[in-house]
Amino acid sequence: MPKAGWCAQCGRNAWLAEDGGCVDGHDASFVSNVYETEPKRDPLKEAGSVLKQAAEDAGDVLEDAGSVIKEAWKEAEPSAKEAAASAGEAARKAGEAAVAFGKRIVGKPEAGDAPPPPPQDSEPAE
Ligand SMILES: [Zn+2]
Repeated sequence: MPKAGWCAQCGRNAWLAEDGGCVDGHDASFVSNVYETEPKRDPLKEAGSVLKQAAEDAGDVLEDAGSVIKEAWKEAEPSAKEAAASAGEAARKAGEAAVAFGKRIVGKPEAGDAPPPPPQDSEPAE
């Protein structure tokens, strides 16, 4: 899970870089109360799903194009349909690859995207 912590320089919880400093470039010595957490949202994964849907829609359009060609040019029917189907399949695969890519980089949230608060908010010391 990605790490976040309180950055005294930022004055808020911030995602931590590999070296333990905050993603805004502040040194690890300014960071305290480090915790592990999941990003609230994953914009890249969402973008991947949108792209996948767009690819599926594009596949449908290509299949429609295949039937138009069938009407217009009967000899070409089998190869035109095949071309439309494989183009649609390629578009779907591109969408799936984008989703997989989004999943792979979930551990690397973007700078500026504030992490959620620590799981157990520091209880008052006794
Ligand atoms: Zn900072």
